Amino acid sequence: MTVLQSVTSVTIGDPAAFVAYWAERADEDDFGLTRPAPGRLEAAWSLGRARIELEGPAARIAVESGDIGGLVTMRGLVAWYLGRFDLVLAEPDWSGETLAGEMPPNFHFAEVAEMRALNPFYHRMVLTGDMTPFTKDGMHFRMYRQRPGVTEPRWPRMSGRGTVDWPSGPDAPFNPAYTARHVDAEAGVMFVDIYRHEGSPTCDWCLSRPVGERVGLAGPGSGWLPQEQTLLLAGDETAVPAILRMLEMARPDQRGTALLVAPDGRAVQEVRTASAIEARWLIRGRDEGLVEAAMRLRGPEGETHHWFAASQAEARAMRRHYRQELGLAREHMYCAAYW
Ligand SMILES: Cc1cc2nc3c(=O)[nH]c(=O)nc-3n(C[C@H](O)[C@H](O)[C@H](O)COP(=O)(O)OP(=O)(O)OC[C@H]3O[C@@H](n4cnc5c(N)ncnc54)[C@H](O)[C@@H]3O)c2cc1C
Repeated sequence: MTVLQSVTSVTIGDPAAFVAYWAERADEDDFGLTRPAPGRLEAAWSLGRARIELEGPAARIAVESGDIGGLVTMRGLVAWYLGRFDLVLAEPDWSGETLAGEMPPNFHFAEVAEMRALNPFYHRMVLTGDMTPFTKDGMHFRMYRQRPGVTEPRWPRMSGRGTVDWPSGPDAPFNPAYTARHVDAEAGVMFVDIYRHEGSPTCDWCLSRPVGERVGLAGPGSGWLPQEQTLLLAGDETAVPAILRMLEMARPDQRGTALLVAPDGRAVQEVRTASAIEARWLIRGRDEGLVEAAMRLRGPEGETHHWFAASQAEARAMRRHYRQELGLAREHMYCAAYW
């Protein structure tokens, strides 16, 4: 397997505080962190990893990933964490190809080919373009869309440092996270199911029938079918596209339960899966709450993946449950606030 690597050195000031900072971030943000030797840290995400070697008040950091898109994302991720550590004052310069001035390798244009109602609660957006990047490793992305009235579209560009200059400021494009509900790379088509809710710039835009408009897809960033034999999946309306996609990808030998929230019976969709995972829809106001139901799910220890996505408050409660009640290891859980 190809592994691309890029290296940087930064002044970190206080090594003990730097180590404590990474431990805290790993705990909060659910990425793996090990200390293979004194003065060394290794952080792991689904896209790649970072090896950190402390040398007095400095750190040498090497990031690795399987392709240039992943490598650029890894550089950006580590740079983002470094930027939030008070004692790192300068932005890192990464070794290797910087692609300065080019579009980021993990940014893809697509066109809105169709916008229709999937049911009274979801818009189904059909995008066309090169969808090959979305056929493996990740189903989530950020959808970049220009703000109304912007005459000079602003898109991200590679900086001279090897990371991406994402547009910022009041004119910066909208960039909410969504899920590739269905991808047909041969036909160059992706479906995105957008839950309709109050105060949503994306939903207002969907209602404006933006067929023919260009959007930018940054990703895929994360999220794929967990490999454990038992899957316990639970999510609210915004996570329904991800859960249905995982059910479609699940292997025949996988089993478990999927809890999906629907505002009422009209949002209930047909579930297609070759697996033995049992899907249960929870109708708001009629059935038990998502968190309550998800907390009762149990599977064989070490062979079960617990997956949860919903509002911030629900995700916080579930994370506490996964960690404190079930004592789950990071690699056996995914718990995300989708809004
Ligand atoms: C990894 C990931 C994948 C996601 N995939 C999908 C997907 O496939 N489909 C999908 O519909 N959503 C998905 N979401 C959720 C989506 O990103 C959020 O709902 C986001 O807020 C939508 O942006 P917006 O344009 O509506 O505006 P924002 O400016 O983000 O939100 C506007 C207002 O709406 C509120 N809001 C957001 N979501 C809800 C909600 N569900 N119910 C009530 N109020 C809400 C916000 O709190 C805010 O007050 C995903 C989120 C993540 C992190």
